[in-house]
Amino acid sequence: MLHPCLRCGACCAYFRVAFHWSEADAALGGVVPPALTETLDPHRLVMRGTQASRPRCTALVGTVGEAAHCGIYEQRPSVCREVQPSWEFGAASPQCDKARIAHAMAPLTPDDWLGLGPSSEGAG
Ligand code: SF4
Ligand code: SF4
Repeated sequence: MLHPCLRCGACCAYFRVAFHWSEADAALGGVVPPALTETLDPHRLVMRGTQASRPRCTALVGTVGEAAHCGIYEQRPSVCREVQPSWEFGAASPQCDKARIAHAMAPLTPDDWLGLGPSSEGAG
């Protein structure tokens, strides 16, 4: 069974994805590709595309709600790593639910994880 995030991607096309600039500074150990970011304020960058009126991160590959994944999964910002899919770890995730509802998808339920163990293979 496919990880639910790989059939979703909604959170990568809903939120403004902002994080400290050092996450894209290789000299400081940052791994986010600078070319995929833009400046938000003196302290923060955003992923390109996520400030739009209809946000979609430039690193998102595929079609939301069908097949989607992060094109920089190992280099994604900390905020992306913090988003938990609902019920993967035993609790609902307000961020996940909100993004899915905004993309006309039902929130995940515990049943969506039957046959799947906790994984790090999600889109977001
Ligand atoms: S965390 Fe939730 S909204 Fe984000 S890709 Fe996974 S299922 Fe979709
Ligand atoms: S997980 Fe990847 S595609 Fe999604 S918002 Fe973060 S960087 Fe963009």
